[in-house]
Amino acid sequence: MEVATGKSILNGIAIGRLKLYRKEGAASSASAALTPQEEWKRFEAARIQAQEQLVALYEKALAEVGEDNAAIFEIHQMMLDDEDYLDAVKGILETQGAAAEYAVTATGENFSAAFAAMDDAYMQARAADVKDISQRVVNILTGKADTCLLGEEPVILVADDLTPSETVQLDKSKLLGFITRYGSANSHTAILARTMNIPALIGVEYDDSWDGRLAVLDGYNHCVYIDPAPDLLTSMEEKQKNDLKHEALLQTLKKKPNVTLDGREIKVYANIGNAGDIGLVLQNDAGGIGLFRSEFLYLESEDFPTEEAQFLVYKRVVETMAGKKVIIRTLDIGADKQAAYFQLDKEENPALGYRAIRICLTRKEIFKQQLRAILRAAAFGTVSIMFPMIISVREVRDAKELLEECKAELREQGVAYGQVEVGIMIETPAAVMIADELAEEVDFFSLGTNDLTQYTLAIDRQNPKLDHFYDPHHPAILRMIRQTVEAGHRHGCWVGICGELGADQTLTETFLRMGLDELSVSPSAVLPLRKRIRSLDLSKEQEA
Ligand code: PEP
Ligand code: MG
Repeated sequence: MEVATGKSILNGIAIGRLKLYRKEGAASSASAALTPQEEWKRFEAARIQAQEQLVALYEKALAEVGEDNAAIFEIHQMMLDDEDYLDAVKGILETQGAAAEYAVTATGENFSAAFAAMDDAYMQARAADVKDISQRVVNILTGKADTCLLGEEPVILVADDLTPSETVQLDKSKLLGFITRYGSANSHTAILARTMNIPALIGVEYDDSWDGRLAVLDGYNHCVYIDPAPDLLTSMEEKQKNDLKHEALLQTLKKKPNVTLDGREIKVYANIGNAGDIGLVLQNDAGGIGLFRSEFLYLESEDFPTEEAQFLVYKRVVETMAGKKVIIRTLDIGADKQAAYFQLDKEENPALGYRAIRICLTRKEIFKQQLRAILRAAAFGTVSIMFPMIISVREVRDAKELLEECKAELREQGVAYGQVEVGIMIETPAAVMIADELAEEVDFFSLGTNDLTQYTLAIDRQNPKLDHFYDPHHPAILRMIRQTVEAGHRHGCWVGICGELGADQTLTETFLRMGLDELSVSPSAVLPLRKRIRSLDLSKEQEA
């Protein structure tokens, strides 16, 4: 048995034969058989055909992976109409007397290198796209199929790299998973693989001997086993069966609304700690991300993550969610979440100490760096910002002022950013008591019942000795939730829960009756919760 490791794009297991995909080499001959005018005509004809293919691909992607993910093929169409690109091809034809294949390949490579050298992450990502469109035109010129033919038996595809168009064209019924040597977790190909729910590994070193051998792609453990040992194969088959059972539940509930028998609908979103969780969010069909605990980005780093590093992570999440809402909670560090480089003092009562928004409002540069990164990512989808640990109106106003400052700076610098909805976490009794005033300041509330329970019941949530006393069903907590919902609604705010209590099915009916608008739970809890919601009938009396 051979084992190779890489980076997993999606948790999941694929078992099957490996198939190596080798792309045709690019045209290397600079000499044309025809005149530059005739080569230009060949190019134009191929370009028109390529545009037709891209229209068809857009339609296919639209049906399979949604509008935002399909948009890449609209970008490809625009690139193929770009005047600079066309001028460059013409220039090579005329000055070098080259064949159209050569002119297109060279233009694709030149533009790709130029995009790759740009500072802007969005433009850098276009490097792969311009190569992709050039390859499409060359394939038409040379009469080669522009897609990888998978054959009769489903396989795990192995390639150096896959372009977005190759990925979306692959026949899903013949594709168990794919493995590439290159590619990035932020690429559109990776995003498409996640959206299409295909287990995939990138950054894997392979050789020709792999072709046709039996393998297990283990997305959970970022590796592939070639010629797996019999006991490993059995345990992987077992794991895959369990996944399938979960998948069966998923299939019956996927795309179904979270609506009670009598027609009351509620949003069910997912909580994530880092971008790697996004596959689970999609697999479980969450309606959005209700809590992105951004502090994990800081906890995983050796030093403050830069604005650019944060932007790339947020952008990846936002793009993958393809228009669905992503609520990013700003840095909630301190108390149990410590990173040495913050150099926080040791405190007597860290849970009541210097943490979360209190750090952000006093170390403004750290905060602004994050706000800028979030605002920039918001240009790529639907983003909300949520401030944690709020106890006063003053804090909310200060945080919003910094947000406005960041927008003004970005505008001044000509950096693109998107509009964001602003909300706060309600996780202190003080916030509940002044919820009416707070609601005047924001668009939404999200109840952090983990901390709300800790602060209301005066119970350290970290102390296992107190587990017995930690009771989130305490009437004080339930009344606080109700009060928050009512105050929010009085002022036009929507109200959700993102603490663990949101997944407690014994309270689902109570929450619906209270009028909560959203529940955000761990990805694996989304479908069981959907099932519960769909079984309830609020027109009947609630059982005691
Ligand atoms: C909460 O307090 O309920 C919450 C969702 O935030 P965290 O658990 O990250 O403190
Ligand atoms: Mg909290």
